[in-house]
Amino acid sequence: MIETQVLIVGAGPVGLSLALDLGWRGVACIVVDEGDGTVDLPRGAMVSVRTMEFCRRWGIAARVANAGFPPDYRLNVVYCTSLAGHLLERDDFPCQRDYPTPASSPERRQWCPQVLFDPLMARAAAEQGPVTLRYHCRVVDFADTGDAVVAATIDPRTGSRQAIRANYLVGCDGAASLVRDRAGIEQDGETLGYSVNVFFRSPGLLGAHDKGEAERYLFVGPTGTWGNITVVDGGAEWRLTVMGSREKMNLTRFDPRAAVRQAIGRDDWPFDIITFKPWRRSEMIARQFRRGRVFLAGDAAHTMSPTGGFGMNTGVIDAVNLGWKLQAMLRGWGGESLLDSYEVEQRPVILRNARASTRNFNHWVGVTEMCGRVLDKSPEGERVRRAVGARLKETLRVEWECLGVMLGYRYEDSPIGAADGTPSPPDPPSEYFPTARPGSRAPHAWLGSGRSTLDLFGRGFALLRFGANAESAGLVAAAAAQALPLTVVDIAEREIAALYERRLVLVRPDGHVAWRADDGPRDPAHLIRMVRGAA
Ligand SMILES: Cc1cc2nc3c(=O)[nH]c(=O)nc-3n(C[C@H](O)[C@H](O)[C@H](O)COP(=O)(O)OP(=O)(O)OC[C@H]3O[C@@H](n4cnc5c(N)ncnc54)[C@H](O)[C@@H]3O)c2cc1C
Repeated sequence: MIETQVLIVGAGPVGLSLALDLGWRGVACIVVDEGDGTVDLPRGAMVSVRTMEFCRRWGIAARVANAGFPPDYRLNVVYCTSLAGHLLERDDFPCQRDYPTPASSPERRQWCPQVLFDPLMARAAAEQGPVTLRYHCRVVDFADTGDAVVAATIDPRTGSRQAIRANYLVGCDGAASLVRDRAGIEQDGETLGYSVNVFFRSPGLLGAHDKGEAERYLFVGPTGTWGNITVVDGGAEWRLTVMGSREKMNLTRFDPRAAVRQAIGRDDWPFDIITFKPWRRSEMIARQFRRGRVFLAGDAAHTMSPTGGFGMNTGVIDAVNLGWKLQAMLRGWGGESLLDSYEVEQRPVILRNARASTRNFNHWVGVTEMCGRVLDKSPEGERVRRAVGARLKETLRVEWECLGVMLGYRYEDSPIGAADGTPSPPDPPSEYFPTARPGSRAPHAWLGSGRSTLDLFGRGFALLRFGANAESAGLVAAAAAQALPLTVVDIAEREIAALYERRLVLVRPDGHVAWRADDGPRDPAHLIRMVRGAA
């Protein structure tokens, strides 16, 4: 029997983010994965601004930026009938090197395919002293004994068994989660369709057509949008996603070579299929994210259509929300309801992001009725192509420009936050409105010498004090009395004071505002009990 504080099942991007966050906090954890750590079929590639902010905190932002995706590859979006076929429209975006950093963040989104991102995260997690990473280790069952969780694992290569005992177990084991299943947690939601990913190699594919470099080529035929090719390594590797159908596909009749040929629009262009795999496009959410000492995070807790690239990035937010709460419980300052706040806070965020993903997907299929004559070599065909292209370009802009979705999420009505009665700012998908209203991500501002306000958050709570006479002694004493880690930070810059709007702002370890006011609270002990889940 091996013992640890947290057992993480699944070393995908979410399990690894949680391991990294816990390790960074000094919490011992074991991450197990039944695979060998290689990503056999690339899925995500867009690492959001928010995920990059967390990577900055963990000290790996530069590593993600330099992971290997070519910085000068143009990240355009092309709408066409095939690579060699008609161009319908295009949306030109800069390459990663020239991609702008938004004023509201110290980081910009990064293009880093999961084939590079997951191994990078694994290395970074393993470098944290308290993290142990074990591949070829499948969890087959577990039991919550009340004061611990005991998991049974098996090495799929040898059949050898090993038990692991942990204070908490977190299932980050993907959409088909065994942890969710064994915990008896059902899911709600809907299936949007069945698709197939085809991963293929074709060196020099850009020479097969005149559409130029793009992050994505979206294909439209007479029955509507039917698939897209996405760049993988910026060189020879590509992924074709065939959108498929509402009904489960019969894979015995699926011909990956024919699908790639149709996407290229040429029969004579050479390529090799590396692998292909079916997957279900769905918007599903687990009915509970917690059962006793067992938690769900990432795709195990929720799935969403990849239209937008929110799946992994939302899972990373789960990990960061949960990390500090587990730390608080293990260090003894977390209250009884702290762990329950994980689900209360994350569920609305997940629903919001999943709905944005489905809305994007509906824009993809929203042109179906218009496409009947999209391949016609006639003036009418030309008219249809222009109309479909214009509609796709207009409606899908929110998918490519989604800063609002990534930064604007907030924890309304949190049981561990003190609402201040101010109105909620707008929440459009493409635009982010910085606010220090309780529940929101504490906004970024430069402090000088390359330091962001975000660099102040993470290890414990931070009390930002704008003006030396702001009364903070009561809060500091109450935090000390309840062993809540708290650092007071004086900020003199007027613009930052204006951004935060109050003289005292209490920020949680995950970088969200817990409370703010111009004067110290009337009952500081109660406020501290509330933010640590003990009120
Ligand atoms: C085509 C496509 C494109 C996408 N693009 C993006 C994007 O650009 N941005 C984005 O944010 N998201 C994107 N996503 C979604 C993203 O890939 C997923 O949300 C993300 O991989 C989920 O991460 P996870 O760690 O929760 O689960 P997974 O990545 O599924 O990892 C789960 C891990 O658990 C392991 N495991 C499973 N069962 C066990 C067990 N019993 N014992 C031990 N180990 C186990 C598996 O081996 C696996 O390594 C995309 C998805 C698709 C299909």
